[in-house]
Amino acid sequence: MPICAISSLDLRSKKVLVRCDFNVPLKGGQISDPHRIDASLPTIRYILDHGGSAVLCSHLGRPKGRMPQLSLKPVAEYLSLALKIEVPLAPDCVGNATDRMVASLRAGQVLLLENLRFHPEEEANDSGFAQDLARGKSVYVNDAFGTAHRAHASTVGVVRFVAEKAAGLLMMRELEALRAVTDNASRPYVLIMGGAKVSDKIGVLRNMIPKVDTILIGGAMAYTFLKARGVATGKSLVEDKKLDVARELEAEANRNKLVFLLPTDHVVADAPSEGATGRVVTEIPTDKMGLDIGPRTVAEFITHLKGAKTIVWNGPLGYFESPAFAQGTLKVGEAVALSGAMSLLGGGDTEAAVAKAPWVSRFTHISTGGGATLEYLEGRELPGVQALEQ
Ligand code: AMP
Repeated sequence: MPICAISSLDLRSKKVLVRCDFNVPLKGGQISDPHRIDASLPTIRYILDHGGSAVLCSHLGRPKGRMPQLSLKPVAEYLSLALKIEVPLAPDCVGNATDRMVASLRAGQVLLLENLRFHPEEEANDSGFAQDLARGKSVYVNDAFGTAHRAHASTVGVVRFVAEKAAGLLMMRELEALRAVTDNASRPYVLIMGGAKVSDKIGVLRNMIPKVDTILIGGAMAYTFLKARGVATGKSLVEDKKLDVARELEAEANRNKLVFLLPTDHVVADAPSEGATGRVVTEIPTDKMGLDIGPRTVAEFITHLKGAKTIVWNGPLGYFESPAFAQGTLKVGEAVALSGAMSLLGGGDTEAAVAKAPWVSRFTHISTGGGATLEYLEGRELPGVQALEQ
């Protein structure tokens, strides 16, 4: 069913509740990476430019009750600077004092509500809480793609209590990019999967095998597939309980006549520590861990990217947090970015791994939501998107 985009609403003199994803990393009370806030600025500006006022809400972290260290205060300060208008922080996301601040808001003004998860009713999708959240606002806009896979009061419950609902500009962009790689995507189509665990990616692999031409697997999850083939994996991270699933997925890929590549060489060390130095091997010694794909694998992967029209990538190809094991991710990442294909990068760690690279702007789309992207690629409906359906 269709969803309404914010651009089709008349926002004049309306109070718009905007669910944003301001779940930013904090270090010593300071925002260490504001890109999620930046990503929602176009929607906020759109509301102000079209005569509305914006009441912003978000969660931050996983508080147990009210925790001052998880206040959205630093976000209010960042928004004030970015939007060049004062963005006050309400004392709470619901309640009389907050309702009074919402009531006095005029067109062109912005108010940020305090952390939604200070109330357990948010994650419980409590209907009374959702109604309190909607009070005084006639329009609801969801721009928080990163939490669209969660059925919470601010992503699902709230829609019953507003007159109009729509997707924000960021949400629309995320969904358009995901549709482009799932509905009639141009081929050849390459899926690159990495990261820590096979168990997180089984659903994506199952759903994507019939849709793609090539699957390239790196990261720790490759070792479960290699062990399933009977290859020695030393001390590498392996999910022994998933060996059967790995075998089954590879057989399914073969039945679909896909190119299904696993690493053929590795950068190994004793353990994934920041200061460790790596050594390239083709056979992993019993006392070593595979921490990155090796140079031969990098070259093989890059060869299989040539001519691709669509590339989806989720999960770093090594323990990228240490520069000694980041080369596979960076070299393959560069080839994806410069490939000319429609390229979609699933958020979270994959994005963090390439964030500082000079070619990062060359990806077609970098998703702001890791979990939501994975669930979409699994073929599942996202509750936060379903709630917007007209
Ligand atoms: P995920 O959240 O599943 O995408 O996993 C990301 C994490 O996997 C990152 O912290 C990486 O450091 C880690 N990772 C990737 N490859 C390896 C590897 N070969 N050994 C250990 N950790 C890895």
